[in-house]
Amino acid sequence: MADHALYYSNQFVLSKDNFDTTRKAAWIAESLAKNPVSGVRLCLPKPVSFNDARRVHSENYLQALKTGQPVENASSSKIAWDSGVLTMALSACGGMLEAGKTALRDGVAGCLASGFHHAKRDRGDGFCTLNGLAITAHALANGNRDHIVVVDFDAHCGGGTHSLIQNHPRLWQVDVSVMPYDDYQPGARCIKETVDEARQYLKTVWRCLQQVEAEWPLFSMCLYNAGMDIHQDCKIGGFSGMDEFIITLREEMVFQWCGERGIPIAYALAGGYTGGKMSRARLVALHRLTINCAGNIDTDDNACHKGFGTLT
Ligand SMILES: [Zn+2]
Repeated sequence: MADHALYYSNQFVLSKDNFDTTRKAAWIAESLAKNPVSGVRLCLPKPVSFNDARRVHSENYLQALKTGQPVENASSSKIAWDSGVLTMALSACGGMLEAGKTALRDGVAGCLASGFHHAKRDRGDGFCTLNGLAITAHALANGNRDHIVVVDFDAHCGGGTHSLIQNHPRLWQVDVSVMPYDDYQPGARCIKETVDEARQYLKTVWRCLQQVEAEWPLFSMCLYNAGMDIHQDCKIGGFSGMDEFIITLREEMVFQWCGERGIPIAYALAGGYTGGKMSRARLVALHRLTINCAGNIDTDDNACHKGFGTLT
């Protein structure tokens, strides 16, 4: 088992709007305190600065998040604006950025935040306020000249991320979704698939990962948006046949794929919603699958290290 850092701050749940995206990081942190995953250590991240956020977001949008005006823009993520929302979002992005930097050193790291991949330059969308995936990708690609692939296996499309990274020559995207929310036309450095049958899901995920390797052999880091909302009991996203077994195999596939190739991977939680048959305990157990699989990654196989250790 590889030890790995998992970034969490109680600022991730600072919004007064009571919704899974603004609460579940705390549920998982509590679960890990009661029933730890071997080798995982919770670490407190620094929030990103306004300047970091300006890499991908407009000044007008950031000011709206700061002041709450205009309210339509300040609440465009669908999370009702209050004075904690900006702090929450900057802290969540900080967790992702630190996970990215730590993964470059240690091979794997994670962040308990979610709510990144629909956020766009001028507004939020779909419970995503600031795009921590895009901020991290830009920061690391520019700082270390890494070639980074954002692997997005949330149920919904990552149109926000695509809009923010598509013009950067060292940033790529793999996006396998199961529903068309936040759909987009993929550009040159993007592999995008939509799956509508459970038995096709893992085959498609594997084909896309192989395609990345074939087309972009230079890539040296993976940012993984590990959505659980593909599950059949998630009201927003999943469909029949998509169960814990499929999700476990997907997580094993992603982390093994990186581990065997010596590709550092930093993960975020992404979608996953309570309601109906999906209790809080079941949702926490789903997200723990990602943390477990990340802990099983083999970071000691020096024969295939390509990217570890590039950050000093
Ligand atoms: Zn989603």
